[in-house]
Amino acid sequence: TRTPVNVTVTGAAGQIGYALLFRIASGHLLGADVPVKLRLLEIPQGMKAAEGTAMELDDCAFPLLKGIDIFDDPNKGFEGANVALLVGARPRTKGMERGDLLSANGGIFKPQGAAINAHAADDIKVLVVGNPANTNALIAQAAAPDVPAERFTAMTRLDHNRAISQLAAKTGAAVSDIKRLTIWGNHSATQYPDIFHAEIAGKNAAEVVSDEQWLADTFIPTVAKRGAAIIEARGASSAASAANAAIDHVHTWVNGTAAGDWTSMGIPSDGSYGVPEGIISSFPVTTKDGKYEIVQGLDINEFSRARIDASVAELVEERDAVRELGLI
Ligand code: NDP
Repeated sequence: TRTPVNVTVTGAAGQIGYALLFRIASGHLLGADVPVKLRLLEIPQGMKAAEGTAMELDDCAFPLLKGIDIFDDPNKGFEGANVALLVGARPRTKGMERGDLLSANGGIFKPQGAAINAHAADDIKVLVVGNPANTNALIAQAAAPDVPAERFTAMTRLDHNRAISQLAAKTGAAVSDIKRLTIWGNHSATQYPDIFHAEIAGKNAAEVVSDEQWLADTFIPTVAKRGAAIIEARGASSAASAANAAIDHVHTWVNGTAAGDWTSMGIPSDGSYGVPEGIISSFPVTTKDGKYEIVQGLDINEFSRARIDASVAELVEERDAVRELGLI
């Protein structure tokens, strides 16, 4: 029998946590034959609610779930972690300056990075979901010098999935016929969903759409502002689709991309496509055997170049701000 994989989830008592934990425990994160142990990390005020969620997880009698432990100390929460999903973050509240937001999150992600450095398993893989996700991932990564930097990733898979869905709706294609879509840059309003290399049933997506105005004025803003549209419609944030994207991100990282396709992940830049080395930016990646590689050699047209550069400029500003605050 396989040794269970330790999965740490922070912000476990939150909305995304509630949509995420049951799917991890039922085998959707790693595979239907992989036993898991959950380690839930919360702040002290969240402990009781996390216990309630753990009671419900017990009540599902999931065959793959081999244990649940709940902590409010990151040093314990990340002990032996093979996979860490960093969901809990300090949301931006009204009137909050960006510097305040970044400092508040530095207070969360710096100690978590240090705890991962000291206590996680050697094969630790980290996904940051809590916003500002790319920069929170950078803070955690900088606090974990003994962990290979590439193990720290940020989620742009929800943007990726949203873009596929919008493209399918526009063209009448099945989502499963859409391949090689790319999200570039930051998980923020500046993100750039790129269809110039995407394929719809083997045909170039930009040629199938053949409508640059739709691309600029409808597609890109719809994908970028989808979160706000869901809050407006539901009266609550897009927790279930965010949880689904977190599952997809880790599942693809661990189990690989399909032949001829790729996915989007926020990862430490190696300088590819002119993105400054070290910042955590979204790229097209293929994955295999638990490792990812940036897809190389894509032609970037002027339309794409301007948008990638704008999103990357925002990431550079965020990096400079956290540097100034002494967080990295
Ligand atoms: P959610 O579970 O709804 O969201 C958690 C984080 O995910 C937020 O930063 C949110 O960003 C982000 N996020 C990313 N993508 C999405 C998306 N598509 N839709 C919605 N959110 C997205 O927040 P809750 O307030 O319900 O729960 C947070 C929990 O985290 C609480 O239980 C709190 O106690 C806990 N917490 C734990 C910490 C820890 O373990 N050390 C630290 C801080 C909090 P955005 O703000 O932009 O919506």
